Amino acid sequence: MTPPPIQGLHHITAFAGDPQRNVDFYTQVLGQRLVKLTVNFDDPGTYHLYYGDYAGQPGTILTFFPWPMARRGVRGTGEISAVAYSIPHSALNFWRERLTAHQIPFGEETRFGQPLLTFSDPDGMMLELVGQEADVDTAATTPPPTNDIPTAYALRGFHSVTLWVRTAEPTAALLTNSFGYQLLGEENGRRRYTGTGNLGQLVDVVARPELGRGSMGAGSIHHIAFRTADDTEQLAWQTTLTQQGYGVTSVRDRQYFNSIYFREPSGALFEIATDPPGFTADEPLENLGQELKLPYWLEPNRAHIMQILPPLDAQRGGGAEAQRGN
Ligand code: ZN
Repeated sequence: MTPPPIQGLHHITAFAGDPQRNVDFYTQVLGQRLVKLTVNFDDPGTYHLYYGDYAGQPGTILTFFPWPMARRGVRGTGEISAVAYSIPHSALNFWRERLTAHQIPFGEETRFGQPLLTFSDPDGMMLELVGQEADVDTAATTPPPTNDIPTAYALRGFHSVTLWVRTAEPTAALLTNSFGYQLLGEENGRRRYTGTGNLGQLVDVVARPELGRGSMGAGSIHHIAFRTADDTEQLAWQTTLTQQGYGVTSVRDRQYFNSIYFREPSGALFEIATDPPGFTADEPLENLGQELKLPYWLEPNRAHIMQILPPLDAQRGGGAEAQRGN
């Protein structure tokens, strides 16, 4: 079976420093919902924090492995350098004022005709808010209720990622020949490719041969995951990419999705993740993110894991349910 074209981003995973600072920034400043509080399955002494829209749907999910003592990463080629969220065009001024109120310096640009605000999270990870003229994306997500971000101004899932590479052509070939993406345009050395989904369907590829390779640390994006509908389609991707010469892993059980991984030609780690079962696999929608969840194989070690995890108040500021009200 030839798999159908990739439908856009599923999730993005990055490294952070202090977990509390990370939770506070993404929930209280950006207004995302903590949709899963769990641990790194490969290193259960480290949290794995998932943020998204109210339901944590694919195309809105940003996840972090926070290490309190981590040194910062160094940006370079072979990595995703920035994550962009969509916002309604009418929300730009709200976010200018909000970032200013939180003392977060930001820049402004126009890219492919769209205005955007650029800034960094507390660990130096580059973020962008892109003002969209058409409200196509606003119907696709459900913003979490908060006290101080009106729904009309809330983040609306991923707009795009920016990938820095030494040379663009090999990565471009993967996107267009394998994933079924199309080149939308090129501007100032930035090539924009689009998939067919309605969230996070854009990948920007920028050749930065003057830079060295990136070095992972706090603020670095570890990998991006693309969506696939189910296990059958995922296995078709595994076969197809292997035949095309990519070193693809076996299927890994990530509890909320199944995953395969491979390196794209410039060295960045790509994942293909299944939409099911999703974050309601082990707790109801209204309770997402409120307590530490462990996969069945780590549950016997819960007491020990809770002892070694750093203290974290994941619902500081009241949490989504307490903040319901507008
Ligand atoms: Zn992943």
